[in-house]
Amino acid sequence: MNEAALLLEATKMAKKFDSVVALKAASLQVRPGEVHGLMGSNGAGKSTLVKIITGVYPADGGQIFVKGVIRSFRSPAEARRAGIVSVYQDPALVPDLTVAQNMRLAGASVDAVRKWLTELGIVRLDFSLLVRDLPDPTLRLIDLARALAWEPAVLLLDEITASLPADLSEQIYAMVKHWRQRGNAVIFISHRMAEVSALCDRATVLRDGVTAGVTERAHGSEERIVALMLGAETARAVASGPSTHAGGSRPDDAEPALEVRGLRCSPLVNEVSFKLYSGEVLGMVALEGQGQEELFDCIAGSRRYGEGAILAHGKELRLRHPADAIAAGIVLVPANRLLALLQQRPIPENIGLPAFGGIRNWGPIKSRDERARVESSIERLRIDTRAGSELRRLSGGNQQKVVIARWLASGFDILLCFDPTRGIDIGTKRQIYALVREIAAEGSAVLLFTSELTEIALACDRAIVLFGGRVVAEMPVSQADEATLLRSAHGLSPSAEAS
Ligand code: ADP
Ligand code: MG
Repeated sequence: MNEAALLLEATKMAKKFDSVVALKAASLQVRPGEVHGLMGSNGAGKSTLVKIITGVYPADGGQIFVKGVIRSFRSPAEARRAGIVSVYQDPALVPDLTVAQNMRLAGASVDAVRKWLTELGIVRLDFSLLVRDLPDPTLRLIDLARALAWEPAVLLLDEITASLPADLSEQIYAMVKHWRQRGNAVIFISHRMAEVSALCDRATVLRDGVTAGVTERAHGSEERIVALMLGAETARAVASGPSTHAGGSRPDDAEPALEVRGLRCSPLVNEVSFKLYSGEVLGMVALEGQGQEELFDCIAGSRRYGEGAILAHGKELRLRHPADAIAAGIVLVPANRLLALLQQRPIPENIGLPAFGGIRNWGPIKSRDERARVESSIERLRIDTRAGSELRRLSGGNQQKVVIARWLASGFDILLCFDPTRGIDIGTKRQIYALVREIAAEGSAVLLFTSELTEIALACDRAIVLFGGRVVAEMPVSQADEATLLRSAHGLSPSAEAS
């Protein structure tokens, strides 16, 4: 196909965020009348590519052609005028405005949005409702209807189905096919292999910011996509054997520090059971939207669950509030460290911050003198405080260490870490994982969710995989290579067929 016949082409796109290289040489060619899958592990650069194509970020390198003409958009509005519109991975509606106000704010026609919502099966939405009062799935469909109202020639959908129930996902597939039929193109990002195979004519696979390959829809393309996502390097690492720290042996009848039994929390947690023992780090992996966030919220006491039980050292807990979890020795290091910290305040104050009164003196640090505890935390974590004493001046990695330091200073028995190293440079990442290992070695139990599969081997003794709100695989770290984890996380059988 000659290049002028392409609707959209991006060649060798590059983008850095400070020291983090998000894209190195990402290329993508999209034809009219095709649904084009964009695949890649978490952090491969998919969302960054979407944002560069649609003018959210400027590129550091590379070129974008629309119908053969070189273009570069300085804003999503400019991209829109050229017929390129995205539904972004993060919801793009202002919570404190009504639906109608949000549409006007973005310059979208309320009538057109209403028409597309009807097509998507949402017939009587009250546009005077505040966005914050609407359920997430509805918001995703409003986002999509707004994008469709601009009648884009190229529609980009970044993990739109990740948090949608099956019936709404079906509505999306139908709309994607309809859009293709009109001669447009859809760029479809999803981790669900089944829907990508069913929907996409071709797929481009990104790995570490580079286009690793393009596949046509054909028998065996799923295995080929997984192989491209993993790359040769991983295959070598897998062959070179398991990680160095062996899981500590424990008697068969040992009582778990934390046990989750038959937990359900609608709609995403279907039935989760697992045990976590003192002295171990249990890794958890899952694609976006498999119930992991809800599960962590339940254990941390910030979300009610419908059925099931959470036990600490054999005793069932009644978790109505995060304070209940903290009183039981369970603390959370969230992915979004901004929620946990006071940006304008000095670092020692952030560490000494008593999150809730009456914390018992659990865990590694026994000293009762707060100042001493805070100082020893800073030292132990090698928090680089040269940037100044205000927290907001610290790098992301150092901010995340402050969150962990706070819990070290106040003590805990069970540490829940939710994607603690997201967007953090590799050096600091390793320090954080070394710290997690130390915490376990001192007798605490750690549950670590990570969206980066390679990190399981760095920090964990065992791994469990969540898919569709259930634990679908459990394995010692010696078997938790990236290929096995990735296949399980996609709901495929853990061992590869010959590929
Ligand atoms: P994907 O969508 O494939 O999961 P992303 O494009 O979101 O990947 O991220 C690629 C890499 O760039 C990751 O390492 C991520 O942490 C980093 N990154 C993405 N956006 C930002 C940002 N705004 N600031 C800093 N780092 C970022
Ligand atoms: Mg993304």
